[in-house]
Amino acid sequence: MSYNLRFKIPNLSYLRNICILFVIYFLTARFGLRLDAVSGFATLVWIPTGISLIALLLFGTKLWPGIALGAFMVNYLNGASVPVAVGIGVGNTLEGVLGAYLLKKLASFNPNIESLQDALSLIFIGAMLSTGVSATIGTLSLLLGGIIASQVYVSTWVAWWVGDMMSNLILVPFLLTWRNFPTATKDPKRILEIVLLVITIIGIGIVIFTPVFGSTIKSSPLTYIAYLPIMWAALRFGPRETSAATFLLTSFAITTTIFGFGPFIQRRLSESLLYLQSFIAIISTSSLLLAAAIAERKVLEKQKDEFFSIASHELKTPITSLKVYGEILEERLRKKRFKEIRFATKMNEQIAKVIVLINDMLDLSRISVEKLKFNYKKINIGKLVKRTVADFRYMTTTHTIQLKGDFKKSVMCDEERIGQVLINLLTNAIKYSPKAKKVVVYMQEADGKVVIRVRDFGIGIHKKEQVNIFKRFVRIGGDNNDSPTGFGLGLYISSEIIKRHGGTIWVDSQEGKGSTFSFALPYFLKISLTSFLT
Ligand code: ADP
Repeated sequence: MSYNLRFKIPNLSYLRNICILFVIYFLTARFGLRLDAVSGFATLVWIPTGISLIALLLFGTKLWPGIALGAFMVNYLNGASVPVAVGIGVGNTLEGVLGAYLLKKLASFNPNIESLQDALSLIFIGAMLSTGVSATIGTLSLLLGGIIASQVYVSTWVAWWVGDMMSNLILVPFLLTWRNFPTATKDPKRILEIVLLVITIIGIGIVIFTPVFGSTIKSSPLTYIAYLPIMWAALRFGPRETSAATFLLTSFAITTTIFGFGPFIQRRLSESLLYLQSFIAIISTSSLLLAAAIAERKVLEKQKDEFFSIASHELKTPITSLKVYGEILEERLRKKRFKEIRFATKMNEQIAKVIVLINDMLDLSRISVEKLKFNYKKINIGKLVKRTVADFRYMTTTHTIQLKGDFKKSVMCDEERIGQVLINLLTNAIKYSPKAKKVVVYMQEADGKVVIRVRDFGIGIHKKEQVNIFKRFVRIGGDNNDSPTGFGLGLYISSEIIKRHGGTIWVDSQEGKGSTFSFALPYFLKISLTSFLT
């Protein structure tokens, strides 16, 4: 006879993880309580709350015994009776389990905090809701155990709740976003910017929070400067860098307040705490939301760029074959003198337009991933302008194109790309001056640069619209059916090309009278500061 004995032996790595969580929880709680003994600051930021939420979020709620044991032991060793220590342990464990469970199941929380939904759910569920459970059960245990009097129940509850909340607002985003160490960037401009950002945070921290510059006036308005580097981090980097910036800045604020400096110091400790905690709460929630919103936008932009890239690549092959067949067809019809040749010609004109649009889409996706390639050479730009104008004279039947001025010196540039800019400006000049008969191209030298202008006598552009004209997808008149077709990409791509040559592009225009689009190129390449900042 055999018995089927089913003992479930917990697996070793599970036990090890519980032990690790227990040790970390226990040590950080002891540290918090010791700090409290020194200055009454334990409730300022209760680190174990953040630790337990992170652990349960990343490794599963099954690790709860680590927290229960840690919370019980800390409170028991701190002098609480067994029932009180058990009560606090239950409250702290439920806080972490509930927070992690709701964040995962209800909010499908992504620990990278790259969307507004992630940031909002961390603030409301993680920082505000789950912490209320621990505060309620913990303070009730203290009350029932006779450790606190009923008169201080509410203030104790608030201090408990806010301390736990601070931890989930500062520590959780910081540790979650840095849980995988990023691959170091090799881009020198990026490294320089990070160094500048860190120096700025430290500088601002010293000015606002320390007495070094004698500026720790009570409630100094200077405190608001603290938002600048946080916004910088959110706008130019991501949630990871923003949470690090917030962490650094709030650490400054906490440490200096503990030592009795800074704009938050008031006569009573509880008042100082309140000031400091509201500063931390506002700065950490706003930075979380801003960084997440911007990260979300970047993800959507990336998806759109990928779509453009795939769509344009997929369209390019069939349209190129169509072009070849169209040309063969036109050639054969011409040879046989068929009158239907005009249909083939029209068809090829339309195909050529589609190819321009597809090339614009390809360029756009290349610009987005910084893969627009340039082949810089010294060329005679005068010759390039003359050749392009000659091609246009051959193609347009509606406008005459005049060429004024000349330019003999050589300029360092990418011939094909500068040709593309010229073609775009000439196409627009013709497209947006349907009632005019001429377009004028000027070549001249000004301030040691070569300047090329394309002037038309068409519909012109309203002053208000001129500032946006070089942005992508901007089309004046929007989707108006009467306006000529286009994606609103040509000028954006042209300005990127000119910028990459260290040059400038601009427009002078009067509505109803016409526009002059000009660009200036230096003789030698110099990459402008604007290309670095955009
Ligand atoms: P597209 O012409 O394909 O729409 P562009 O980026 O070349 O895109 O131009 C953006 C917008 O700027 C156009 O939609 C048009 O409204 C305006 N624009 C460009 N060139 C001219 C011009 N020469 N005259 C008047 N409006 C112009």
